[in-house]
Amino acid sequence: MTTELLFTATNPVDDRYNPPACGEINEIAALLADGRLSGGAPVLAAYEQALAALFGVSRATAVNSGSSALHAALTALGVKPGAEVLVPATAPLPTAMPILTCVATPVMVDTRPDSLALDPADVERKLTPRTRAAITLPLWGYPNDDHEAVVLLADAGIALIEDACQAHGTKIRGRYAGTLGVAGCFSTHDRKLLSTGEGGFVLTNDEELAARIDFYTHLGHLNGAVHGVNYKLAAPLAAIGLRRLTRLQAQLDARRRNARRILDALPADGTLREFGYGEHDRPNYYNLVLTAGSHQQEFAQNLSALGLPPDSARYGYRPLYQRPIFAEYATACPNAEALATSTFQIPVHPGMPEATVEWVAARVADLARGGTKS
Ligand SMILES: *Cc1c(COP(=O)(O)O)cnc(C)c1O
Repeated sequence: MTTELLFTATNPVDDRYNPPACGEINEIAALLADGRLSGGAPVLAAYEQALAALFGVSRATAVNSGSSALHAALTALGVKPGAEVLVPATAPLPTAMPILTCVATPVMVDTRPDSLALDPADVERKLTPRTRAAITLPLWGYPNDDHEAVVLLADAGIALIEDACQAHGTKIRGRYAGTLGVAGCFSTHDRKLLSTGEGGFVLTNDEELAARIDFYTHLGHLNGAVHGVNYKLAAPLAAIGLRRLTRLQAQLDARRRNARRILDALPADGTLREFGYGEHDRPNYYNLVLTAGSHQQEFAQNLSALGLPPDSARYGYRPLYQRPIFAEYATACPNAEALATSTFQIPVHPGMPEATVEWVAARVADLARGGTKS
């Protein structure tokens, strides 16, 4: 017998990752000694430059949350009350709430079958003269190759925002998620791959847009010429981000190794298989996502009983319009609905002990074989 791991429906495998200390405390001590804790401290510029360099874009603007990043990007792109913003029905609540913050109208778009990519036909159907922007998202850090929809939106002159809040390090067609649209919005909340407690940032290669985002999030730099809000990230959080950024690649590697171990244990018959992506795409393994051809309900129940609840069970994940505040925007999105029930999210973060990863691999493989749970 191997070591008994006591995961159960009521004691699930922990999906949170608490990164080990990497010298953040010294940076914070220096800021405290200096008395420079606000979002105007020099560490902000250093953090923003490091982010832009890592992702290979010209501008990064640090803000106090992923939600602020999305709201600022939408506002800077001219989304005003009454405007329409396309959003996939697969999006979780925080993707779409900033649309409501703009007093704009979310327009639900379906995804392609078994994909997170916007369905180009549905995009075309839902474009109106009021459409001002579109949001797309690599949910769970899985690539959402939107190429066709991107071309269609570009032809229509509609700006595409990527909600890459879960997708630090995800690659789509060989490029980082968050660098393919007009603006890429990230969160650095504790649950994300780069964490600063609360925080976020916006990436763009459009200098004019970057300036609008910068002014909007910094109270218009108090010049009195443009309106703005205070979405600045506090200096200690920027210092934490700057330190932890150096660990991002090692974390991605560890997540990929853990995911690989679980995938290698799965039977080859495809009963349970990894959620699909293209040859030049790479998930960041925010979660390992599996799909099942049939008996989805049964898999979901069995996984939950084992202590590996999918997001539909852990967080009540479901299509956006099945949430009360978005119900009035419901349109038929059968692919997004199917995706919500046929995908299973498995934690693979580097904080999982090796024995836990082995245990998960063995249990998931048993389940795929239809074997009994031990
Ligand atoms: C976390 C998250 C957000 C919001 O980020 P906050 O920093 O919590 O405001 C938005 N979209 C997605 C997909 C997220 O995962």
